[in-house]
Amino acid sequence: MAPPQKILFPPEKICMDWQQRQSAGAGLYNLGNTCFLNSVLQCLTYTPPLANYLLSREHSQLCHQQGFCMMCRMEAHVNKVLHSSDSAIQPWDVVSVLSRIGEHFEPGMPEDARDFLRCTVSAMQTACLSGSSDLDASSQLTTVVQQIFVGFLRSRVTCLSCNMTTNFYQAFLDLSLDIQAASSVTAALENFVKPKQLDGENCFKCSKCDKMVAASKSLTVHHAPRVLTVCLERAEDFTNRKISKVVEYPECLDLRPYTSQAAGEPLLYCLYAVLVHSGDSCNEGHYYCYTKASNGLWYKMDDMSVHYCDIDTVLRQQAYLLFYVRKLQEND
Ligand SMILES: [Zn+2]
Ligand SMILES: [Zn+2]
Repeated sequence: MAPPQKILFPPEKICMDWQQRQSAGAGLYNLGNTCFLNSVLQCLTYTPPLANYLLSREHSQLCHQQGFCMMCRMEAHVNKVLHSSDSAIQPWDVVSVLSRIGEHFEPGMPEDARDFLRCTVSAMQTACLSGSSDLDASSQLTTVVQQIFVGFLRSRVTCLSCNMTTNFYQAFLDLSLDIQAASSVTAALENFVKPKQLDGENCFKCSKCDKMVAASKSLTVHHAPRVLTVCLERAEDFTNRKISKVVEYPECLDLRPYTSQAAGEPLLYCLYAVLVHSGDSCNEGHYYCYTKASNGLWYKMDDMSVHYCDIDTVLRQQAYLLFYVRKLQEND
C-alpha cells in the first residue's frame, strides 16, 4: 500500500499504559434492554489507549463537527463514568444516538453486542475522519481509532498446480474464531491459521495457469492491532443455536505463532476485558462483562452493579468477546 499523504494522529502519541490510576468507575443503568450496549461501553471505557485519549479531551478541543459526533459522545461518556462520584450513571450520551450509530438499532430492542461494538468503532472512525474527506486510503488508516483497533489479515492462496502464491489483505476489527472443534482460544487460533484446501466449487483462478485450479489458502495476522478483540462464535451455523461450551482463554496471549512472521519474538497481549452472554439462545439472554480497571484490579460490571472479583473468576466465563491489549516490549 502507498505511504499515507497525511498522518492524522502520530502513533507515538498513543499511550498504551494508563496515565492515571484509580479503582473502577460508575456502573450503567439499564435503560430498557440496553445490557448489550452497557457491556460494550464498559469494555471500551477500560481500553487503556482509547481511555487515555478520551480523558485528555484532546478530541473535543479540536472538533468542528456540527451535530452528531461519536468521538465527542464517547469522550463525554468515558469522562462521566471514570470521574463520577455516583455508583451508576445513565448512558444517555450513547443511547440517545443509537440510530446514528447503526440505522438498524431500535430503542428498547435487544441487540447483538458484537454488532454494536463494530458499529461504535466504525462511527468513531467516521468521526475521526470528519473534516478530512477525499483522503487517500492509507491516510485514513492513521486515525487514533484505526491505529488502536484495526489489524490486517493476510490470505495467501497457493496454486497446487504451479505453486504460485497470491496474497490478499483484509482489515479486521475482531478475530472471529470457530469454537465448535476447539476447547481453547489457542486451539481455535491454530485451526484459524491452518491451510484450507480450495477445490470443487471453491476453485481458484490462477493467473499463471490461466484456469480454475485447486489451491491451498492460509490466513495469518499480518499487522497485529494494538488492541486485539477476539470473538468466540457462539451461534451454530444454519440453526443459530447457541454453543454454550466452555472455551479456555489465557490471561496472557502470544499472537506470534498466528502471524505472517511466525518465527519472530513473542507478540504478547494481556487480557483486560471479557464480555459474557448468558442465556440458552443467541436471540435472548443477558450481557455483562469483566474489566480490569487502571488500578490493575478486576471488576464484574453488570449494568448498574460494579463489584470487585478475582482473576480466576474472570478466566472461567462463557466468554463471547475477549479484549486484549498489546504488551509493550523494550524495543517498542
Ligand atoms: Zn467530535
Ligand atoms: Zn497455477
